[in-house]
Amino acid sequence: ADGARIVTRFAPSPTGFLHLGGARTALFNWLFARHHGGRFLLRIEDTDRARSTQPAVDAILAGMRWLGLDWDGDAVMQFARSDRHAEVAHQMVAAGHAYRCYMTAEEITAQREAAQAAKQPLRIRSPWRDRSDAPEGQPFVVRLRAPREGATTIEDRVQGSVTVQNAELDDLVLLRSDGTPTYMLAVVVDDHDMGVTHVIRGDDHLNNAFRQLPIYTANGWPVPVYAHIPLIHGSDGAKLSKRHGAVGIEAYRDELGILPEALDNYLLRLGWGHGDEEKISRDQAVEWFDLGAVGKSPSRFDLKKLENL
Ligand code: GLU
Repeated sequence: ADGARIVTRFAPSPTGFLHLGGARTALFNWLFARHHGGRFLLRIEDTDRARSTQPAVDAILAGMRWLGLDWDGDAVMQFARSDRHAEVAHQMVAAGHAYRCYMTAEEITAQREAAQAAKQPLRIRSPWRDRSDAPEGQPFVVRLRAPREGATTIEDRVQGSVTVQNAELDDLVLLRSDGTPTYMLAVVVDDHDMGVTHVIRGDDHLNNAFRQLPIYTANGWPVPVYAHIPLIHGSDGAKLSKRHGAVGIEAYRDELGILPEALDNYLLRLGWGHGDEEKISRDQAVEWFDLGAVGKSPSRFDLKKLENL
């Protein structure tokens, strides 16, 4: 009965094809939702207007259909929700959880250079966090008033307990000077509004989780359960590149004649396993899927194995 409340999502940026890593993320989200009788949502994160393209959107939808990963309801287009994202940012300013920052490009460059000289990571420290003499008519960005004291811990379903000192975080930008929302804000607002309970994504987003968490707390929203899955590496251990198979999944169908069931089964076993089972059907996968069995180390992609399936 509890399961009905579980909501997962796949949130690709349509800047390229659906590659193996994205397909596996989608598959794990789909399996987790179906296993619990919950909902699986699709959100196209097209806020990067310069890099998002319609052919990429089409390729992602086609790839998911080919793999049989059906989503509940209509795909949500993130850019269309910009007004809602901005509204939340303004509410956060009104409530004191965010502030208008009038730092100039020169001031930011100075902090960047100082950080470089000191061999320290860049953490913007805006004087406007504590100033109330805001100039009229000057351009500003809206920054989160991130916690500086203490530490933040995430109990990640795959990575375990991960802690970051809050002093390591900075006041990230929520709205740019042209009033458009940043990716970091849009993701949180959308996940909240869509009722997402479990965020399952690549572990290249683990750092982002620590920056996104304060946006939830500032708004008094429940924080989702996180599960950051290790990336897929090439068989030589290097990050997956085109040479290893970071091509659109349709290439496997068109160039290698791989069947969706084979790819599906292969993706499933990249980072997940059920005993010694070699072949796992979709129905069995739905029955058995469990985030606790997702491995913590990067999986290795091996084209030979895929071809032999
Ligand atoms: N749009 C992001 C990406 O494609 C994913 C964001 C998320 O899953 O939270 O990498």
